[in-house]
Amino acid sequence: MQIYMPTKVYSENDCVMNHRDELASLGSKAMIVTGKHSSRVNGSLLDVEKALQEEETKYVIFDDIEENPSIETVMKARELGRKEQVDFVVGIGGGSPMDAAKAIALMIANPQEDESALYEEKDLLALPVAEIPTTAGTGSEVTPYAILTIHARKTKKSISHKIYPELALIDSRYLKTAGLDTLIDTAVDALAHLLESYLNTNADSYNRMYSEKGLSLFSDIKEELITCRRQGENPAQTFSDQGFDVLMQMAATAGMAITHTGTSIPHGLSYAVTYEMQVPHGKAVGIFLSGFLSSYQDKKDVQSVLGRMGFATVEEFTKYLDELLGKVEIPEGLWIENVKSIMANQAKLKNYPFQMDKDTLYAFRR
Ligand code: NAP
Ligand code: FE
Repeated sequence: MQIYMPTKVYSENDCVMNHRDELASLGSKAMIVTGKHSSRVNGSLLDVEKALQEEETKYVIFDDIEENPSIETVMKARELGRKEQVDFVVGIGGGSPMDAAKAIALMIANPQEDESALYEEKDLLALPVAEIPTTAGTGSEVTPYAILTIHARKTKKSISHKIYPELALIDSRYLKTAGLDTLIDTAVDALAHLLESYLNTNADSYNRMYSEKGLSLFSDIKEELITCRRQGENPAQTFSDQGFDVLMQMAATAGMAITHTGTSIPHGLSYAVTYEMQVPHGKAVGIFLSGFLSSYQDKKDVQSVLGRMGFATVEEFTKYLDELLGKVEIPEGLWIENVKSIMANQAKLKNYPFQMDKDTLYAFRR
């Protein structure tokens, strides 16, 4: 049994301003890494700029991170970071900018290396990273993972280096501008993290406490999520401030869960679906959760996660999730290739504690 969660986490309204001294203490010049648009709308970028200005800390902004960030974008940001001589990195946004921030911090700190170092088992240190989430999904604000798109291989993969953020500043007010699909897809990503961590080779009674807490937060919020989908409403009309808080807490807790165990088969299957069909990450993972629970061999553990979520059976869970996410038609050719590539890659199956066979995996597609 081992717990290692080195990220200092604050979760409260006005978090960025309240802890601006700790943010500024990470270095003397920051690179803010963010997406093209949303952090300007939800107030998070302005808060970070104000906080750094009040602390008289210089910064430069790189706001060109795309969804599912690529190695090419990371290298472009590294160039700016080197030129501007930054010595810490602040990621603001969903998992895409937060993951990119970690990879950029690694590449800026190691100018002698080229992009191949991202995927080599080398002892490299990164610049300090702070993360400010604006989606409630990936938990990247507390995880050591950074998933990048590798265009040359037509897929996505986590870099080989574990980069724990020094600081996570969580303010659920940033979530209020999220659209219906983004909010639901990202919540399902967090749910997947909780399930794939609990039902995992690396799970133990100690690290499962993160999933147990997170699944009970999900059960508190699952009716609001489905109501939002049914009414097709802007989430800000359905969710109370407390509801947004619960979502953010669930995502961070789920991040803490996978920090200890890693993810499992649904994540492994999702990457090609996202790459080839542009299905958002959370949705691409979510469509495999029913297959994962149905085929999981320890039925007692499955019953335990169902109970914590507030479902009696896998069928009830499946019905809920189908309505929440809608259907994704995966073409036969892509599916066969995907199943084949997972079956051929022991590293992708190692977090699944039982034997997996081709036919069972094939049936994960709904
Ligand atoms: P995302 O790709 O970061 O963002 C999706 C979209 O939502 C973007 O268009 C973004 O706009 C917008 N957005 C972000 N915050 C918003 C807000 N508050 N209001 C309105 N729009 C907002 O989505 P994500 O699902 O959070 O992250 C997915 C990435 O994280 C994937 O690459 C996935 O592989 C990775 N991931 C990482 C981990 C980990 O442990 N590190 C775990 C799971 C997944 P802008 O582009 O304008 O910002
Ligand atoms: Fe995920």
